[in-house]
Amino acid sequence: MAKGKWRAKLKSGKYVAMQKGTSIYFLLWSAFSLMALVIVALFAFSQHYVLRNTYEQEMAKSLAEKGKQIETFIDRAGLNGIESEEYSAFVRYLGTANDVDVYIITAGGKVLAPKESGVENEELDIRDDFRTEMDELLPKLQENEGRSVIYSNGREYVYGARLANHHGQPTYLYVCRSLVFINAVMGQMTARIVLIAVFVFLLSFAVSSAISGVLVKPIVSMTEKTRRFARGDFEVDFMEGAYGGEIVALAQTLNFARDEISKADKMQKELIANVSHDFKTPLTMIKAYASMIREISGDIPEKRNKHAQVIEEEADRLASLVNDVLDLSKIRSGIDSLKITEFDLSAYVFDVLDRFTYLSETKGYKFVVDVEDGLYTAADELKIGQVLYNLIGNAVNYTGEDKKVYVSLKKERGGVRFAVRDTGKGIKQEELSTIWDRYYRSAETHKRPVKGTGLGLSIVKSILERHGFIFGVDSAEGKGSTFYVVFPCDDKI
Ligand code: ADP
Repeated sequence: MAKGKWRAKLKSGKYVAMQKGTSIYFLLWSAFSLMALVIVALFAFSQHYVLRNTYEQEMAKSLAEKGKQIETFIDRAGLNGIESEEYSAFVRYLGTANDVDVYIITAGGKVLAPKESGVENEELDIRDDFRTEMDELLPKLQENEGRSVIYSNGREYVYGARLANHHGQPTYLYVCRSLVFINAVMGQMTARIVLIAVFVFLLSFAVSSAISGVLVKPIVSMTEKTRRFARGDFEVDFMEGAYGGEIVALAQTLNFARDEISKADKMQKELIANVSHDFKTPLTMIKAYASMIREISGDIPEKRNKHAQVIEEEADRLASLVNDVLDLSKIRSGIDSLKITEFDLSAYVFDVLDRFTYLSETKGYKFVVDVEDGLYTAADELKIGQVLYNLIGNAVNYTGEDKKVYVSLKKERGGVRFAVRDTGKGIKQEELSTIWDRYYRSAETHKRPVKGTGLGLSIVKSILERHGFIFGVDSAEGKGSTFYVVFPCDDKI
């Protein structure tokens, strides 16, 4: 296949599973084949080794006994008349009786007995040239100081011994038994082992195919589901068709990821809906009041000012919404670096509280303040101002009928704890973790004295997380909530 085509297929996702790493099928197949190879090799080695060794040991033992006997017979008979036909028959008889071949030869490899019978008989297979054999035998005898030796030259097992001199020349006894039989057996066995090896390889191929089929099936189906999931299908169930502990665990994790991502996706959609709605309301108001000024109140200063004020307020609301969205994305993306300075947190809390005085003067809110003097911390002052403002603002928005908000700042072990408590409905246990999310806004619509964009707590969370401060909320349903932040304490105080 052309390179381009492959790339296109890879891109389409068809071969995603094969892009990296070796396939499970190949790994299994190699492991099985290697195991089979090792087993067959061990089997072949042990068979060869054990069989051949046992056979040769037995052969050596019996040849040693028989050779000794034959040597004794020949010694007793002496070498007189060795050229005669009878002597040859005697030597031949010794061979047949013991199921071996017997020769008496000279140092030069010439056969003295048995002589060729003159009859053409291939079965008798009389050998007459023992030069090569003698070249082997003589040094061995010498090494063994003239006594008998027994050895194998690969073709046959040999018993060799020095006999008496004949006409002043040394003679030798050469008794042998062929290894043709065992070599044939070994050959047969090798052929069988090759057959077994081929069979085992085929078997390992079949077994590894079956096992990898079982293993890979759920993974392939999961890959397919993940692809669907990536395209935005949040209905996929990774558990369906998953089996085996590890794969089930993976499926559970993927299902968990799916739920989390779909939650985030839902929140994101809600945010777009909320924000566009929140943008639309002030814009409609601005447009309506501007038309009113043009058409009705333009010439009546009192009315015109009132209408213009509404336009200003709505424009402010719009601006704060835009600011919040921008703030959040800047903090989240990390563009806005923190400007850490040391400042008087106690004084700063009062400054922020001052921004709420209009509420106690006009709407009857009561701020119960318990702030220790002269507590310093090191942080980004402006951003901490945003945190305090949002937390106090929320307490005002959600506090109970008594309109009380408790603000405290106290030194404690390891830091300065800021807390703001309200007496409202509190937050449901299951909502406690979600309220910090960027797009979360509780379902119920609430009349708020302080403008809220639904982004307040996520801004708080982002700022505090970037500082690395401890923060949280304790809430009891029906009793109210306490939001707190622990600032690092400056020891210079
Ligand atoms: P907003 O208050 O503008 O909706 P926030 O991000 O400040 O947005 O708060 C997110 C949600 O957390 C609120 O909609 C509300 O449901 C809940 N919440 C925040 N502060 C409090 C509080 N003091 N008491 C009860 N609920 C609160």
